[in-house]
Amino acid sequence: MKAVVLKNVEKSFNGTMACADISLSINRGEFFTFLGPSGCGKTTILRLIAGFIRPDKGKIFLKDKDITHLAPEKRKVGMVFQNYALFPFMSVSENIAYGLKIQKRPEKEIQEKLETYIAMVGMDGFEDRNIAELSGGEQQRVALARSLAIEPAVLLLDEPLSNLDARLRDRMRLEIKSLQKRLGITTIFVTHDQTEALTMSDRIAVFNKGRCIQTGTPEDIYANPVNSFVAKFIGDTNLFAVDMKNGNPCVCNDLLVRLNRPVLAQSKFISIRPQDIILSKKSDKKSNTFKGRVEDIQLNGTWIEYCIKVKGIDFKATALNTTANKLNITIFDDIYVSFETNSLKI
Ligand code: ADP
Ligand code: MG
Repeated sequence: MKAVVLKNVEKSFNGTMACADISLSINRGEFFTFLGPSGCGKTTILRLIAGFIRPDKGKIFLKDKDITHLAPEKRKVGMVFQNYALFPFMSVSENIAYGLKIQKRPEKEIQEKLETYIAMVGMDGFEDRNIAELSGGEQQRVALARSLAIEPAVLLLDEPLSNLDARLRDRMRLEIKSLQKRLGITTIFVTHDQTEALTMSDRIAVFNKGRCIQTGTPEDIYANPVNSFVAKFIGDTNLFAVDMKNGNPCVCNDLLVRLNRPVLAQSKFISIRPQDIILSKKSDKKSNTFKGRVEDIQLNGTWIEYCIKVKGIDFKATALNTTANKLNITIFDDIYVSFETNSLKI
């Protein structure tokens, strides 16, 4: 039995297609992420699943039950909204306990759950605060606790971490993921942040312009993007438009990339991940080795990022700090750029 199924779901607003022909199948207990740029229809699909809006076409199933026309309160769905949607005149505790009180859970259970979920989102000591006295990030955390407290069959999270500062966001990422696994709640997580998607998800659906472009595990999508949009959106990459010349993709007039995979002959783009670019101060005369010049070096702690210009084309390369130290590359150095054929994609 699937937890959530969407079949050919469509929704337009004033003639603009917000989501087009979406078919998805989400397994029980899965952490499933909708990833895509702003405006691609992610929130619309969550609202369709929650029942706040109805599709123009298609059907939505929750545990094999057709819920397309069921009222929101009859769906066992918890949602954290991007704009919080908390009750402004209630305290933190009252907000978090709200759903439990509606469900008439025993007072002891409500108190226990309150403690658990307040601690989970790091809001200890804020129990009696009014919502108006909280920062945006704190409100988002209360919203998360409120929707988790009712332990819904499906949890919908609309960019829940976007208002948290970087440290807390990292912590919450791990905590949400571990809590989700512990409780086994099927979760649909919406984000435009590829790192969140790659680190948290069992599977990801990549959206663009109202369409689902690719569905797969993070590893699968990262390693085998179906098109240039996915390759660019998931992880950093060097993406080059190519023309074919004598059976070799040619990035520009002189930069011939030799391939041993004929399947790539139809490609319009090649993608090379920055960490797959090999930098060397000497040419080893292998194929796919190009002489360039270091134009920029940026340190980001663990990684060093290089921008290298080869015959007018920018290559981005990354190396672990320790590896880079051995290479001793400085700005404006001449440098050889190379890559293994099997690290080329598309
Ligand atoms: P995302 O969450 O991926 O940023 P949305 O689902 O919010 O995208 O929006 C998808 C598209 O639908 C956008 O073009 C947006 O402007 C439009 N849209 C969403 N909700 C409404 C609405 N209630 N009325 C009109 N247009 C809407
Ligand atoms: Mg949105």
